[in-house]
Amino acid sequence: MRGVALLGSTGSIGVSTLKVLERHPDRFRLVALTGGKNRPLLEAQVARWKPKYAGLAQADGKNGVVTGPACLVEAATHPDVDIVVNAVVGAAGLDATLAALRAGKRVALANKETLVMAGELVAEAARQGGGEVVPVDSEHSAVLQCLDGKEAPPARLILTASGGPFRTWEPERIAAATREDALKHPTWQMGAKITVDSATLANKALEVIEAHFLFGLSYDAIEVVVHPQSVIHAFVEFVDGSVLAQLGFPSMELPILYALTHPARVADAGVRRFDPVAAGAFTFEPVRGEVFRAFTLGMTAARKGGTYPAVFNAANEVAVAAFLDGRITFGRIAEVIERVLDTHLDEPVKDLATVRAADARARAAANLATQ
Ligand code: NAD
Ligand code: MG
Repeated sequence: MRGVALLGSTGSIGVSTLKVLERHPDRFRLVALTGGKNRPLLEAQVARWKPKYAGLAQADGKNGVVTGPACLVEAATHPDVDIVVNAVVGAAGLDATLAALRAGKRVALANKETLVMAGELVAEAARQGGGEVVPVDSEHSAVLQCLDGKEAPPARLILTASGGPFRTWEPERIAAATREDALKHPTWQMGAKITVDSATLANKALEVIEAHFLFGLSYDAIEVVVHPQSVIHAFVEFVDGSVLAQLGFPSMELPILYALTHPARVADAGVRRFDPVAAGAFTFEPVRGEVFRAFTLGMTAARKGGTYPAVFNAANEVAVAAFLDGRITFGRIAEVIERVLDTHLDEPVKDLATVRAADARARAAANLATQ
């Protein structure tokens, strides 16, 4: 029996994780749960799962549940926890990832923003405490599954992208897209922030940075291809030119289960059985980098390194929140990110304080740019 802490239990990945745990009561015990502000859902989850610890990171105090942002680290470092599923969205997930790794836990990481902001510090925390990061993101889970048991390091990764709802749209139409248009993802049901990131393709830049830190490959060796069917999740090329890929109908439950059991595979991931005929034809296209500017800006920030990825992430979070609030148009998301990156001065990621300061400055600059 492995003890699990689930951070972000009230979100999309959180609820999918509970479905996975429900199917494997003999393997996992849910020890700790945290949500953001959705008290009714968290209380229903507490009643069902009876965890030893429950918290609401963005709520005011009331009996029964710990409140405030510190609940994330408390849940993640609980002594009965072996695996922390980090399904928080955004920078709020960083401290809990670092604390869990320092405490020697496995972190099943959906919160890609953690690695984008502070990939170097995540690796250091894992070394110090003996913890490990196992990706939940479907593309990175696919890479890990292709690498399993291979001694040779990969020569190249190709991450797939659905292309989002605006894959075939003209640039003028995309710039004027509404919140409703952006939230209509063609192949995945996810939280609002990542759904908008999938529409701008900022998500794929975040994922390239995530892959760089997870698998230790240079940016020259990580590529992206648009694959609208979302059935192939990633390709891994080896030095001899051989290419492996991982396939499956879109579902996060398989990558979540695999992050919990890796390197073992267990039966019953609750996924639709693969059927090549039903899957039909697979198509591939290049990313339209001049149209999806947020992607290109993210890739430039990635290559610059230092605190640029953290600044890209922070500016993107602020711009997406402003778009979801109806304060800026879709087309302005990339403009805000660009404005913030243009004024950033490079610095190496020395410590968490450097990252926090860069993140805070970028948020302030992005807030100004959205006005
Ligand atoms: P979501 O918005 O549905 O859920 C986010 C969760 O985090 C909720 O429980 C929310 O209450 C909590 N939360 C939000 N702000 C918080 C804060 N400041 N402090 C503490 N908790 C907070 O998002 P999601 O779609 O489940 O995505 C979660 C993470 O997983 C993101 O990093 C996303 O990029 C990644 N991811 C999601 C999917 C997917 O299919 N949904 C796939 C791959 C990766
Ligand atoms: Mg993904």
